[in-house]
Amino acid sequence: MSTPVEPLRLLLLADEPEWAASLRDCLQPLAGSAVLLTAPNWEAVNSLFAHDRQAVVLATPALLPTPGRCELPTIVLLEDEPEAPPAGVSDWLVRAQLSSDSLRRSLRHVRERGVLVATLQRLAEQDPLTGIANRQGFQALLTTRLAEHDGRGVALGHLDLDNFRHVNDALGHQGGDRLILQVVTRLKLQLEASDQLARLGSDEFALLIDTRREPNRAEWVAERIVEALGEPYWVDGESLLVGCSLGLAHARAQAGADPLMWHAHIAMRQAKSVQGCSFHVFNERINRNARSLADLEGELRRALRRDELELHYQPRLNLVDGRIVGLEALVRWNHPERGLLPPSEFVPLAEQSGLIVPLGYWVISRALRDMQGLREHGIAPLHMAVNLSFRQFQDSQLLATLSRLIIEHGVDARWLEFELTETAVMRRNELVRQTMDALGRLGVRFSLDDFGTGFSSFVHLNSLPITLLKVDRSFVGGMELREENRKLVHAMINLAHNLNLEVVAEGVESEEQMTLLRGFGCDQVQGFLVSQPLPVDELVTYLQQVPVAAIRAV
Ligand code: C2E
Ligand code: CA
Ligand code: CA
Repeated sequence: MSTPVEPLRLLLLADEPEWAASLRDCLQPLAGSAVLLTAPNWEAVNSLFAHDRQAVVLATPALLPTPGRCELPTIVLLEDEPEAPPAGVSDWLVRAQLSSDSLRRSLRHVRERGVLVATLQRLAEQDPLTGIANRQGFQALLTTRLAEHDGRGVALGHLDLDNFRHVNDALGHQGGDRLILQVVTRLKLQLEASDQLARLGSDEFALLIDTRREPNRAEWVAERIVEALGEPYWVDGESLLVGCSLGLAHARAQAGADPLMWHAHIAMRQAKSVQGCSFHVFNERINRNARSLADLEGELRRALRRDELELHYQPRLNLVDGRIVGLEALVRWNHPERGLLPPSEFVPLAEQSGLIVPLGYWVISRALRDMQGLREHGIAPLHMAVNLSFRQFQDSQLLATLSRLIIEHGVDARWLEFELTETAVMRRNELVRQTMDALGRLGVRFSLDDFGTGFSSFVHLNSLPITLLKVDRSFVGGMELREENRKLVHAMINLAHNLNLEVVAEGVESEEQMTLLRGFGCDQVQGFLVSQPLPVDELVTYLQQVPVAAIRAV
């Protein structure tokens, strides 16, 4: 950590004058690296120093900032050693142990955490492998862009590589990563400074093409892109050809981001019907018959009624004893014409339309039923993780329905776990907190999903009833190739452990990643290396062949 040039500002909130006196004594040997300022209450501190990166709050318990209301790192000043680490603060100091050393250590700890926060903030919108924007970053770019010019003067490209899965299988996932880097290099060469490029998923990209000067520019660029991507690639001494499909949609005035993304997606699907590299432009007239968002919504409603949804379960491995300790339920739509659809094809739509609420209940109910089924097969109980969207919290019936479902299925609620994303829990919504507390009283556990991507603020992480943190697979994925990712994953694991949280690394695909994670003290892993998500009958066979945790967790 570099030494700050400016002194730290220690903002003291304490009714007892002794704290100021003792802290001043401790600060003397730190000569000029920190100054002590006393303040009457945290509201005053917050209004003056909220954006001061050099400020740290020191407060007695009675004057602590309200959880979730103050972004500044906070150290609580205690009279006695606490039995458990205090919640909602960055660190604590006990009067009897107060010394220059303990103060310096604590400030250093708090500051290091601040550096991690800043790094996460920067990386939250960036794809770790390629350095271009990720899905999150892209959404921000698109929103800004559409707001700027009355929503016009831009075309959206949705690019998907064909059969990237096969490339990964043939070259290993590091080879796959190297191919992606080459694809990005070729794409960048075709774009100008006013265009933008993002990586939406493993082999999916989005392009924002500036068409203000020349309305047909998007088509020219698309032409050149499919040509450039159609050239053979050299990866690990092998030459290979990779097909790609690019869908283009022109933004219309004030039409908004959702239809634009949907149209580019439809066009991309149409490009898929052509072998090799090709592009297709969305055309309102020709696509009158294409599924609109509303059609798809109707179809999804029917799917729920006709039982076309299914759950696949992905096991979670405990690195300490090598046993399977949990499962994550992942929904799929067995579409009568289009086959098995992944959640990315319909969950976002379900969220927008509110259908996620009934869909979510179906998922929970089916997961509980399958938990019972596993028990009947003599399999020791496992934690069952279910993904919960923020939208589901807004349903006033959530608590009552869940309680009923748990009782109906005769399942011990302590085995049920909900995965929430940072964006959902960090909205500081009182309703979310209350519902989480009430569900927690039933015994349900919570985990923080996709950690590192939806960053808002995790200073108050330990004031929420969360027991587990899932490090997002984008960080795990780049670990072998990038030192920065290794450091970051290591730091996230340490941070979680400091907060008494267990850590699961997601998307573990190689032995090398698993070895690194074990070295970092990671508790559990989930990913293709352990197993793909499996339909329930295959899961039963799998679990009968591997070691499963036999001890009842509390
Ligand atoms: P998630 O919660 O991050 O789920 C993990 C995703 O990573 C799954 O994709 C899984 O198949 C994939 N995955 C697992 N191991 C690996 C690996 O080693 N490498 C790679 N590259 N990927 C791996 P899936 O099933 O397509 O789910 C995507 C997302 O859809 C989930 O991401 C979750 O956010 C959402 N989702 C799934 N089921 C539900 C649900 O029932 N309700 C809600 N609200 N969302 C759901
Ligand atoms: Ca999840
Ligand atoms: Ca996840």
